[in-house]
Amino acid sequence: MRFHVLTLFPDMVKDCLETSILGRAQEKGCVSFHTVNIRDFTEDKHKKVDDYTYGGGAGMLMQAQPVYDAWKSVREKAFSDCSERKRIRTIYVTPQGIPFTQKLARELASEEELILLCGHYEGIDERVLEETVTDYVSIGDYVLTGGELPAMVIIDAVSRLVPGVLHNEESAETESFHNNLLEYPQYSRPEVWHGKRVPDVLLSGDHKKIEEWRLKQSRERTRERRPDLYLTYEKDQGAISNLYRQKLLHMDMIQVLGRGTGKLLHMDEDGCAVRDLMTGTIFLTAEEHTAKPLLSHIQNAVTENLERGKLLAVHQAELAAAVREKYDGYCFTEQICRLFVYTKDVPLKPAHHIVFRELTENDLPVVAEHYHDDVVDDIAYLKDRLRKKSMLGAFLEEKLVGFIGMHGEGSIGLLHVLSDWRRKGVGAALEAEMINRLLREGRTPYCYVREENEASAGLQEKLGLYPAKGRVHWLCGSRR
Ligand code: SAM
Repeated sequence: MRFHVLTLFPDMVKDCLETSILGRAQEKGCVSFHTVNIRDFTEDKHKKVDDYTYGGGAGMLMQAQPVYDAWKSVREKAFSDCSERKRIRTIYVTPQGIPFTQKLARELASEEELILLCGHYEGIDERVLEETVTDYVSIGDYVLTGGELPAMVIIDAVSRLVPGVLHNEESAETESFHNNLLEYPQYSRPEVWHGKRVPDVLLSGDHKKIEEWRLKQSRERTRERRPDLYLTYEKDQGAISNLYRQKLLHMDMIQVLGRGTGKLLHMDEDGCAVRDLMTGTIFLTAEEHTAKPLLSHIQNAVTENLERGKLLAVHQAELAAAVREKYDGYCFTEQICRLFVYTKDVPLKPAHHIVFRELTENDLPVVAEHYHDDVVDDIAYLKDRLRKKSMLGAFLEEKLVGFIGMHGEGSIGLLHVLSDWRRKGVGAALEAEMINRLLREGRTPYCYVREENEASAGLQEKLGLYPAKGRVHWLCGSRR
């Protein structure tokens, strides 16, 4: 992931980003930092970048021209580095922005590039903000002298969620804010310190009991210290128990909320809508008679998705029809899928004769040669999956014979077996391996199978996955 920081004080940012974990992450190539000195772009012969504010008032304001030209230089460089002109999110750090949270950090970590714009003095001329900024983000309700510290805070929190930056991927999964809870208390050696003993349960070796104790502590701590956060936790838990009433059909929404990577957009008797923060996909479910009311509750979020080319995963045919009717200014592509869920917690028999290895970006040519999908942009999507360490290859005698992956929102997919190796159990072995890996992470494996793909449905049933009764309609809209 690449961060571009537009600032008047590049050295301040560089020094910080080159040390410790972020410095090492940069050396490993997981993240890269690019600072741009806004002053280098001023057309003023005295290198001035600020001026008095119209209408009077204390302090100086950063002028539009140097900020705009600095931003344009980054955008043009990013465009020339990639095949398509994609939109790069530009964050202006400002006390007037939305609060920066772990959820937003997760969402931002799924971008390939981010531009951070740091203000100084009294801020920046509004006109250039209107033309460049996609997100206004604050790191708290206080005023700092400049945007460099906020930019570094954001970069630090986002970077540690980029695969490969932390040694142990687990640590981001169990920390505070995952699942809207604060982390439980932790202890290290010695067992007794100042007469205080480490809680017995942590020395018991009973992992189930330890997990239960930790969850209880997390909940109590959150309720006490952050009642606002606890309320969100309770709402998500309430939504999860409602969704459990049709467990198989809603397993995707349950998992997204349960993993803490989803934002509950709406939940009441009209239905439920969840945004997956990793991909932006909105998952929706409603009864036939509440389809329209649900859509009116989440109108802005759906419009935003359609405008940004993000998907909708609609869990009923009637609700999908209501989306088409309400958003008749868009034309839609649709994939109708069955959701298959592995409900047991027993691992599947592994195929010992096959070697499984995580694929990397070096494997892109071979993966792209074989995998095609008519909804997503294949190359960019596959590159993203490989970069996020979400694809697994099957090797026989050192040769890649097939691969499988995890989609951005958490379902198993992208399964392909090279033609010479079909009907030899490679597909089943790949999926079994993926299921076992997910079970080890405490997840419930599931996948979407296109309605017409009988072969894949047969494979799922053979592996012991159960089909949900309804269908999931994947919709992607574009303006007519
Ligand atoms: N006049 C501005 C206002 O009242 O909203 C404050 C300007 S502040 C002195 C200068 C710069 O510091 C801002 O443009 C912004 O980039 C950054 N900044 C200050 N406080 C911040 C915060 N809490 N979160 C994010 N950025 C902040």
